[in-house]
Amino acid sequence: MATETLRVDAVVIGAGPGGYVAGIRLGQLKKKALVVEKDRPGGVCLNVGCIPSKALINASKLYDKLRHGGDIGILADNPRVDMPKMQGWKDEVVGKLTGGVRTLLKGNGVEIVEGAAKLEQPGPDGHRITVTSKAGTQTIVAKSVVLATGSRPTEIPGFKIDQQRILDSTGALALEAVPARLIVIGGGYIGLELGMVYAKFGSKVTVVEALPRVLANMDKDCVAVVERKLKKMGVEVLTETKAKSWEDKGDRAVLTVELRDGKTAALDADKILLSVGRRPNSEGLGLDAAGVAVDKRGYVIADDHLRTNVAGIYAIGDLIGGMMLAHKATKEGEVVAEVIAGHKAAFVVRTIPAVVFTDL
Ligand SMILES: Cc1cc2nc3c(=O)[nH]c(=O)nc-3n(C[C@H](O)[C@H](O)[C@H](O)COP(=O)(O)OP(=O)(O)OC[C@H]3O[C@@H](n4cnc5c(N)ncnc54)[C@H](O)[C@@H]3O)c2cc1C
Repeated sequence: MATETLRVDAVVIGAGPGGYVAGIRLGQLKKKALVVEKDRPGGVCLNVGCIPSKALINASKLYDKLRHGGDIGILADNPRVDMPKMQGWKDEVVGKLTGGVRTLLKGNGVEIVEGAAKLEQPGPDGHRITVTSKAGTQTIVAKSVVLATGSRPTEIPGFKIDQQRILDSTGALALEAVPARLIVIGGGYIGLELGMVYAKFGSKVTVVEALPRVLANMDKDCVAVVERKLKKMGVEVLTETKAKSWEDKGDRAVLTVELRDGKTAALDADKILLSVGRRPNSEGLGLDAAGVAVDKRGYVIADDHLRTNVAGIYAIGDLIGGMMLAHKATKEGEVVAEVIAGHKAAFVVRTIPAVVFTDL
């Protein structure tokens, strides 16, 4: 890694659907920009979120249709799931798209710097960022900084994600075998989408939800359709039920839950998917050193021009909360680049479409 300080108009931290789009748009607007990424370009969405989940959802739909083809006279006897092969195919889909991100950035004159970025105290010449990677440490000085570090799954006490028994969505997207019994803790859209994938592949799925219904913040009439489908597929949904603790019994995990009536019950599972929400990646980013304000849940506070409280520092995507969806992050990425380039732009939207891909 070069040791001399890099000087640019703008640096974007994080190459998810918010950050890479901000980078591309900055390049199109003739700004000298860099995107820093500590992992693979494409962020959660392309690597361990939207794209791999939709790939598996699509595969499970095809499998389900084949299994029930006999109902309409299509006889595909005994279809089977080759999970390692499916994972290979899914990884190929992801690889094509993440490769595309690199090409798009490059094509617009924007380089990706690999490493973890951290804000330092600003100097007289601009905002200072250090990037640490195996190759060493690099300093970048930029007039503008876009924070686009996204989010990660929330854990709950006593349920440490080990990707063996206790999975997060990333682990659930990478399984090499279909678990016979899968418990999903959290009936939000991610838990239900992945739960239905494995239910279609033949897992016995149980959803444990603390609130009175699944997809709690969504339209009741739409949710009723999903509830009916879950029932039809044999997915057990335990609402107003709290996951309390779990134990590894060697051949299985046993989850203890507190039911609606206050009684406890023990549920057996091969895998437990913890899917209780996501939290912002705002720690370790040097926000204190730069004086960037966060709210009490750790989300960076940004206005409708995506400006934080510090002049020249902007934030977008899951890191600022609201609807944590890829297309929201992408739109904010476009807007922030235009704001930085001095255009009249703002993130003022009336509605944000949201689709739950439970059963297509
Ligand atoms: C299973 C699942 C399915 C989903 N399905 C959908 C869907 O169907 N539709 C939809 O709209 N949304 C979906 N989402 C949500 C979507 O993935 C996110 O809203 C989106 O990825 C947010 O984009 P972002 O750019 O804000 O952040 P992210 O995608 O989280 O990207 C942030 C990037 O920043 C990098 N980074 C973090 N810290 C640093 C640092 N210090 N230095 C350098 N780099 C750093 C990370 O490595 C990461 O690559 C899904 C999410 C999950 C988990």
